Amino acid sequence: MTKYRLEYIWLDGYQPVPNLRGKTKIVESISPPSLSEIPQWNFDGSSTQQAEGKFSDCLLKPVALYPDASRTNGLLVMCEVLNPDGTPHPSNSRATILDDPDAWFGFEQEYFLYYDGRPLGFPEKGYPGPQGTYYTGVGYKNVGNIARNIVEEHLDLCLAAGINHEGINAEVAMGQWEFQIFGKGSAKAADDVWIARYLLMRLCEKYHVDVELHCKPIRGDWNGSGMHTNFSTKFMREVGGKDYFERLMAAFEKYRDEHIAVYGPDNELRLTGLHETQSIDKFSYGLADRGASIRVPHSFISNGYRGYLEDRRPNSQADPYQVASRILKTISLVPTA
Ligand code: ADP
Ligand code: MN
Ligand code: MN
Ligand code: MN
Repeated sequence: MTKYRLEYIWLDGYQPVPNLRGKTKIVESISPPSLSEIPQWNFDGSSTQQAEGKFSDCLLKPVALYPDASRTNGLLVMCEVLNPDGTPHPSNSRATILDDPDAWFGFEQEYFLYYDGRPLGFPEKGYPGPQGTYYTGVGYKNVGNIARNIVEEHLDLCLAAGINHEGINAEVAMGQWEFQIFGKGSAKAADDVWIARYLLMRLCEKYHVDVELHCKPIRGDWNGSGMHTNFSTKFMREVGGKDYFERLMAAFEKYRDEHIAVYGPDNELRLTGLHETQSIDKFSYGLADRGASIRVPHSFISNGYRGYLEDRRPNSQADPYQVASRILKTISLVPTA
């Protein structure tokens, strides 16, 4: 028998964005347990803003499983939070996602690495040189000295976990980075983003570095962080068409406020119309337009209005479950003919 270290991971009840939580259960088994063999568990919801002290148990329902390369016989268990009666807890945004195995999402997660209260590579006082050479840059003056270690170790951990990473790059501001995750199924990419965030935050502990997900941590002429969300359904990929596309964009315009409400806090600081964004109170779409709310890739038009679209508004701190949930809800309201 082997003792497996199962890290149960869930989202707490904090507003406006949840925090990641995790605790370890040791389970003895002859071989690594599969998802269906992993037991439900519970936690004290009164310590996570998910319950009152008198009636504090919340349930953890395992929903996705990943190998944990940083631990011997380790597994990461992504969980949904349930009420004691087994219904989804109000904080359980994953349970609100319309199930569509043919929905595909690609999230581009941008973030800052912070050391000693400032982005990695920023001098103790003042600012480094202006933005220009940091994006996809190389060399000490562009990326500093430990960021690359963190980013590479994180990539190793994510690939070992089976997360569908598509790529990584240094971003426009000093200390700012991005990873892209693609997944088929309405919750798959969002599960992967949460686990990738977890692995990054846990990895950074030993470097005394924090992961700053706020969408505009430095005011002034420094890029904010987004989580561009690329999405497609089977209908969009295989049928699509100009009329359907225009109906879809009309629905996105109509539900602009509902989308912005779940696209991350303080987004008005980032969606200003500058730094490759559309302003928060406008909705627009455009071919290859990085200043639009929704960017339409060239391939979409050349394939007869078929393929995926990029919603550029979600920010780095948004909950990908809520983002995917809202996008699929709006799509579901648009007639296909
Ligand atoms: P950019 O930085 O130019 O916006 P990226 O290459 O960083 O582009 O991101 C594009 C994203 O689009 C990738 O994460 C990819 O997973 C995603 N994507 C590609 N095809 C599809 C599709 N058919 N449906 C949903 N997402 C897709
Ligand atoms: Mn990108
Ligand atoms: Mn980017
Ligand atoms: Mn993008």
